[in-house]
Amino acid sequence: MSATQSDALVFFGASGDLAYKKVFPAIQHLIKNGHLDAPIVGVAKSGWSLSQLVSRARDSLATHGGVDEKAFAKLLERLRYVDGDYNDPATFAQLKQAIGSAKRPLHYLAIPPSLFGAVARHLAESGCAQDARIVVEKPFGRDGASAHELNRILLERFDESRIFRIDHYVGKEPVLNILCFRFANRFIEPIWNRDCVESVRITMAESFGVEGRGGFYEEAGAIRDVVQNHLLQVVAMLAMEPPGSNSPDGVRDEKVKVLHAIRPIEREDVVRGQYHGYRAEHGVAADSTVETFAAVRLEVDSWRWAGVPFLIRAGKRLAKTITEVVVQFHSPPQRFFATQPLDHSHNYMRFQFNPEELIAMGAVVRKEGAEDEIRPVELIASHQPVDEVPPYARLLQAAMAGDSSLFSRADIVEAQWKIVDPVLGDASPIHFYDPGGWGPPEAEYLLGKGDRK
Ligand code: NDP
Repeated sequence: MSATQSDALVFFGASGDLAYKKVFPAIQHLIKNGHLDAPIVGVAKSGWSLSQLVSRARDSLATHGGVDEKAFAKLLERLRYVDGDYNDPATFAQLKQAIGSAKRPLHYLAIPPSLFGAVARHLAESGCAQDARIVVEKPFGRDGASAHELNRILLERFDESRIFRIDHYVGKEPVLNILCFRFANRFIEPIWNRDCVESVRITMAESFGVEGRGGFYEEAGAIRDVVQNHLLQVVAMLAMEPPGSNSPDGVRDEKVKVLHAIRPIEREDVVRGQYHGYRAEHGVAADSTVETFAAVRLEVDSWRWAGVPFLIRAGKRLAKTITEVVVQFHSPPQRFFATQPLDHSHNYMRFQFNPEELIAMGAVVRKEGAEDEIRPVELIASHQPVDEVPPYARLLQAAMAGDSSLFSRADIVEAQWKIVDPVLGDASPIHFYDPGGWGPPEAEYLLGKGDRK
C-alpha cells in the first residue's frame, strides 16, 4: 500500500439503496482485483448487527452480478459495522474505534444529501476527519447557493485535495473516451471548432418512467437530475481546450474555464415537459409541475464555439432508451456531384454511450454502379460491448488512491449550477407529452433552432 493510499474504507448509508445496488458490487470488484486491502466499515441506523449487514451484502451481490466466494470471504474478514444516528456524536465515537489505527481513512457518504453537512461536522469533531478523505454523493446542492454553502462546510474541515464530489457518469468508459478520442488523435483538433461544426446535440432518453422513485424525482426533475451534472460534464469534455497536462487539475482547470464560458440558460432556451401519467405515479403530487423532460439550448461564448448551439434533450418515457452525442459538421463548400442534392446531415461524429458504446463517423461514399450518386455510411471508430470496470469501482479506487481526476472540484460544481440556476423549478412553463414520443412539440422548435448559423 502506498503512503498516500487510504487505509480504511468507511461507507455511510450501508443499509441504503445505493449501497445495495452499487457499493457492495464495487467493493467486491476491488477486492477481487487486489485493489482493496483495508478494513471496511459500514455505517447505518437500522439497528442491525454485523451479521445482518453480511446477509445484506450477500443478497446485494447475488442480485447484482453474482457472489465471488473468494472475494466475499475476504470482505467478511475486513467488514465491520457501526450502528447509530448521523446526528448523534456517539455514532462517531464508535466509528473512531472501528477504524482503529487507520491514518488516512476514506469516508464515503452514500446518504441523503440533507445529512452531508452534519456528517462532515461530526467527522471533524470526533477526530475522524484528520488526514481523511471524503467522498460526497450527488446531488451536490439543490442550486448554486446551497452548493456554495455545502462547499463552505466541507472546505472548513477538509482540504480540496481530500474532497471527492462524485458524478458516477464521469467514471463511465464511453464518457472517458471523449477525452481520449479528442486529445489522442491528430485529425480531430483542426475540425473541432465553429468553422467546421454546425451543432452539437446531446440526447439522454429513457423509455421508462420514474419507476417507483416518484418521491425522489419530485425533489429533482430532469434539469437537476441529469442536466446540471452528467450532461454538463459531457459538454465540458466535448468543448474544453486541450489540457496543459493529464493531471487531475490540468483537466479540471480546462473544464471550469469552458463552463464559465457557457452563458446561464435563459428562459426561452429551455423547454420543460412532463409525461402524461407522471402525476399518478407513487409519491408524486397530483398537481406536480416537476419536469420529466428538458430540452436546453446552450451557447459557449468562446473563440472556438461562438455561434455553435449545444442542444441537450433529456427525458423519461421517450421513444427509446439511448444516450448519445452527435457533432454535426457544416456542408462541404462545393456540390461535387451536380445531380445530387447535398444532404450534409451525413457528415457527423457520433458518440453513443448507451445502449451500445461506440464512436462513429458519418460520411458519404459513391453509390456502387451508379453515376454521380452517393450513399451514407458510418465508419465505426470504436466499439466496446462491455464496460468491464463498474464506474463505482473505478471511482472508489481512484478516491482511495487520492486521484481526483474523475471528481468535481468546488469551482466546477458551482459553475454548473450557475448555468442552470435561472431555469430551475417553475421558472418556465411545463408542457405535457404523450409517452413513447420525443417530448413536447415545443421542444422540437427549440432544438430545430440548432440549424441556424
Ligand atoms: P437511501 O434512502 O436508500 O439510504 C440512505 C441511507 O442513509 C440508509 O442507510 C439510511 O439508514 C441512512 N440514514 C438516513 N438517515 C440517517 C440518519 N439520520 N442517521 C443514520 N443513517 C441514516 O438512499 P440511497 O442509497 O438511494 O441514496 C444515497 C445517496 O446516493 C443520495 O445522496 C442519493 O442521491 C445518491 N444516489 C443514489 C442512487 C440510487 O440509485 N439509489 C443513484 C445515484 C446517487 P436506514 O436505512 O437505517 O434509515
